[in-house]
Amino acid sequence: MSYLCFTMIIHAVKKKVAITERVFDPCPDCGRSNAIDITIYQRYYRLFWIPFFPLGKTGETVCLNCDKEYKSKKLTGSLKLAYENLKRQTPVPKYLYSGLILVLVLIPVMIYMSMNGRAEKHQLISTPQLNDVYKVQLPNRKYALYKVAEIKGDTVFVRKSNKEAAKLFGISALDNKGDSSFFRGKIPFLKKDLQSMNEQGDIFSIDRE
Ligand SMILES: [Zn+2]
Repeated sequence: MSYLCFTMIIHAVKKKVAITERVFDPCPDCGRSNAIDITIYQRYYRLFWIPFFPLGKTGETVCLNCDKEYKSKKLTGSLKLAYENLKRQTPVPKYLYSGLILVLVLIPVMIYMSMNGRAEKHQLISTPQLNDVYKVQLPNRKYALYKVAEIKGDTVFVRKSNKEAAKLFGISALDNKGDSSFFRGKIPFLKKDLQSMNEQGDIFSIDRE
């Protein structure tokens, strides 16, 4: 599949017939009355098979008797009037706003989930328990696990995983390998330092058994 085909599937400007109406006015070419069809098309932007938002309207004016097709911009007199009226009066189908509405609904949901996730981590850090496992980004920008090994007052002692991952998705491979996957030495953190790591986005998740 070519790149062009591929991007056309992902997003494209499409058009659909909005309305077709027969007009009584005679065809300027063959003179037959009641033979001209005006079709109004609604153009819209489509992304991943979802109509995202409507664009402008276009039209087609054809005589069914002599097959003459009139360019919309070159219409004159009563035909032009009929075309303009039909174009103006044809409503935009509401479902063509589907993608836009979906995004407008999804954005607040995602913001809410992100805030909720952060609040949940805040809660887990405030009340640490032995064997909590934090997925963290280290100052060297690599990823590792911290496992809570001891809690004394406001200080949380963690054991760091003996492997680091260069990418966030690599961190899952470090997961759940038992105690032998962690250094024996304990690193002390104040709870408030863990909280500021969380606020800076350096703690991605906390697993509690
Ligand atoms: Zn005609």
